[in-house]
Amino acid sequence: MTSLSSQYDIIVIGSGLAGMTAANVLARSKHRVLLLEKHYKLGGLATWFHRTAGRNAHSVAGSNASSKGGHVFDISLHGFPVGMIKSCRRYWNAKIADRIVVLQRIKFDNPQFSITTTFNRDDFTHLLVTRFQISEDRVKEFFDTARNMSHLDNATMTAKELFERFFPGREDVVRLLMEPITYANGSTLEDPALTYGIVFSNFMSKGVYTFQGGTDLLVRLMREELTANGVDIAVSSDVQKINVAGGCVQSVTVNGQTIQTKAVLSNANLKGTIFSLVGREQFSNDFIEEAESVRLNNSSTQVYIAIKPGETLDEEACGDLLFSSTAPAFRTDMLLSRNITSRTYSFYYPRTRPGTDRYYVVASTNANYDDWNGLSKTEYEQSKRDLIDDTLTALQKYVPNIRDIAEYTEAATPTTFERFTGHWGGSSFGTKFEGLAVSRKLPQQIAGLYHAGSVGIIMSGWLGAVNYGVIVANDVDAWMLDS
Ligand SMILES: Cc1cc2nc3c(=O)[nH]c(=O)nc-3n(C[C@H](O)[C@H](O)[C@H](O)COP(=O)(O)OP(=O)(O)OC[C@H]3O[C@@H](n4cnc5c(N)ncnc54)[C@H](O)[C@@H]3O)c2cc1C
Repeated sequence: MTSLSSQYDIIVIGSGLAGMTAANVLARSKHRVLLLEKHYKLGGLATWFHRTAGRNAHSVAGSNASSKGGHVFDISLHGFPVGMIKSCRRYWNAKIADRIVVLQRIKFDNPQFSITTTFNRDDFTHLLVTRFQISEDRVKEFFDTARNMSHLDNATMTAKELFERFFPGREDVVRLLMEPITYANGSTLEDPALTYGIVFSNFMSKGVYTFQGGTDLLVRLMREELTANGVDIAVSSDVQKINVAGGCVQSVTVNGQTIQTKAVLSNANLKGTIFSLVGREQFSNDFIEEAESVRLNNSSTQVYIAIKPGETLDEEACGDLLFSSTAPAFRTDMLLSRNITSRTYSFYYPRTRPGTDRYYVVASTNANYDDWNGLSKTEYEQSKRDLIDDTLTALQKYVPNIRDIAEYTEAATPTTFERFTGHWGGSSFGTKFEGLAVSRKLPQQIAGLYHAGSVGIIMSGWLGAVNYGVIVANDVDAWMLDS
């Protein structure tokens, strides 16, 4: 464990991708940076966990078993846009950027259509024209409209209205275009069209990418880079308070110690930063009103399935990412319902982690926090078992012998995500789009106070988090030079 100084130029609270990237950029600019993380490992939602092979979920849940010969599950390594290569090369290093590879097979299977695609503009144009019988001009106009959207645009048109304008009455087309983006950033048909359009266009430019080697390797390489650039890192360091006096940041309190600093960049949940870490009394009434009206994004459930050593998964049948649904049409309430109809499966093959011979499946759903919070311990455990069982049943459609070849299963719920990251409501993507304006206004309220982390639009997901970390680090750097 690093021995901490009593004073830093900048303290970054939280080591999600935004927090780590901001810390790296600021350290490269020769600031003295301290990175504090409440969990015992870095990464935030970009994380993984190990389990011992050959044992059932309940005997090892919660343990920190060694990975030797065991299983490794990735939580949020399912897919991100190509822009991640450029961002990692520029703000991290070539070792990280060179491991980012494209996923070949993205599948959809629902009552309206079953297709396999490379998930880029050429293939989607081809599909929309040949399979969905949309004119080429219309498709081109839609793609160009989505690509020209900017987070500076006015946000009055909803995604639903955008689709109605281009593809009236075509629920199948809406599903093809929207369902993956709902999984990628939590945006829904009712959200502003630009929260959809920007992310959709980012993916469409070249398809869906992943990090070869797994999240554990990514975070190890990031940690090495942070250390090489002189960032002091302290894990198991849950910040209790950001101390403010005279409208300026003074220090943070962590594990009972007070550390002086000129600036704080919080990567913790936006609402948690304002209302818990700083305290409402430090802000103007108007700002507090605006911050209170910021909505949290939805949460998730996940089921992790390890395949027995020696058994395999059929890549042709499963693909890399499979958006499956039994719902007759795409609806936000059905996506979030406890009565699950839609699941996204990530299939991990040995090539995901070269050098291993293991296969894994992670099944994710969007979920409402309130459906899981407040259950009794017995109800909660039973609900988790039901979730695992229902998932195995649903997966039999694509992997008929899954119950025979699954060696280990475990589930995570909205309360799991809340516990590990401190995100209010176990939010998977921070806040809805209105969080961005509040996040950007923090330094006008309190000198030296900044936030970078998931706030909807493009500032969420792996690429959004990295890029927002860079934007805010540059703001902090400019302010430090001026003050
Ligand atoms: C199930 C799931 C699947 C996902 N799949 C994808 C995907 O396929 N592609 C994609 O691009 N994105 C995906 N995401 C989203 C993506 O993982 C996140 O948007 C991104 O990792 C968030 O990064 P962040 O920097 O905002 O911070 P977070 O990852 O939210 O990290 C915040 C950090 O702050 C720490 N912290 C909070 N409070 C304190 C405190 N008081 N003191 C110290 N530390 C504190 C937390 O412990 C945490 O480490 C997924 C998310 C989930 C939940």
